[in-house]
Amino acid sequence: MALAEVNDKWVWIETNLYEFLICTVKRMLSKRNDYCGNYVLEWCKWLPLKCIVFVWRAEMEKNATGAACIDLNINVEVSNCPFCDYSDETVSHLFCSCMIASTIWLHISRWCKIALFVVSSVRDILELQNLMRLTGLVKNVFHGILIVGCWCLWRARNSLRFENKEVQVEEIIREIKSLGYFELALN
Ligand SMILES: [Zn+2]
Repeated sequence: MALAEVNDKWVWIETNLYEFLICTVKRMLSKRNDYCGNYVLEWCKWLPLKCIVFVWRAEMEKNATGAACIDLNINVEVSNCPFCDYSDETVSHLFCSCMIASTIWLHISRWCKIALFVVSSVRDILELQNLMRLTGLVKNVFHGILIVGCWCLWRARNSLRFENKEVQVEEIIREIKSLGYFELALN
């Protein structure tokens, strides 16, 4: 690579143009691209911000699971999944491969009358509405229900971990449905 004897220039990544155009900025903002290579979460307008931020962090594995605490050299009494006590408590286990999570997704697929699905990562969960080629309102609602599902699983996990409250799948399902209906009715 050789350096040329010319002045440096700013170039728009999206268009390779040198000039600033408002329409270029608008196009960049409306695209689901992150020019750093990060995953861009599809927004769900009818859900509370806390749910969106929660799954956004979960996709990056930034939640304080047992495995994450061990990685950060934080002393924790137990790092196994509190639901099954069988596997390390990682984000993918908690929301995808754990029996409790699988059962929740099974109930949701039946409730939403959508084919049974298997997920192996939080990103899979967040992309499911696209993989299933859903469109319009159905896509938006299903996407939101999956996010609410992750949020309610995490709340059940916290209740078990910190309050020793027994986990009941039916109760998690009820919470997902009531929170989903409540937020949809508000928006
Ligand atoms: Zn588990």
